Amino acid sequence: MYPENNLNFQGKRGRIEVVCGSMYSGKTEELIRRIKRAKIAKQKVEIFKPEIDIRYAENEVVSHNENRILSTPVPSSANIPLLACDADVVGIDEAQFFDLGLTEVCSQLADKGIRVIVAGLDMDYLGLPFGPMPNIMAIAEEITKVHAVCVDCGYTANFSHRLSSDDKLVLLGEKDLYIPLCRECRILRKNK
Ligand code: ADP
Ligand code: MG
Ligand code: ZN
Repeated sequence: MYPENNLNFQGKRGRIEVVCGSMYSGKTEELIRRIKRAKIAKQKVEIFKPEIDIRYAENEVVSHNENRILSTPVPSSANIPLLACDADVVGIDEAQFFDLGLTEVCSQLADKGIRVIVAGLDMDYLGLPFGPMPNIMAIAEEITKVHAVCVDCGYTANFSHRLSSDDKLVLLGEKDLYIPLCRECRILRKNK
């Protein structure tokens, strides 16, 4: 589907790939899979995540099934270009928590010939586009939307439903705070 490790075949070709979806949809898993393959192809990789996301580990990206890979937490998208300048492949996880400047940063890295893989929530808990994600999706060469399993009915889940009534947009948390739901089950829960 996507030209994995594309540097092998086409020389240094910059591009932006987005992996998006709800919580538990396997975004981080897919990011780690692509980065591991790039490493096998002996490409130089750098992974970044926003500093606010230190849920499991300070300097690692960790998926819900405990797959992990080294990453650098950064306070702002402006810190990425300098740290990424020698990379063939740049991975960014939890991209929705970054500032809007991330779009331009991704664009400039890709223009320099870097393959940029961006993973993040496409929607917040209200079902609205999240942070820089919609803009990055607009300029990306390729978008992969992954899905979780609805915890109420087992169908394909597209939404991250917040269980708590706290209305702060960024509220980090796990299964006790957010659950993946399909459209119908989300409506049922909201009307309860
Ligand atoms: P994301 O980064 O999108 O939040 P992860 O890649 O960290 O997702 O985790 C995906 C993994 O979460 C799955 O492989 C599965 O083991 C686990 N998981 C737990 N609950 C669910 C669910 N309701 N639907 C899908 N996967 C789930
Ligand atoms: Mg994740
Ligand atoms: Zn459902």
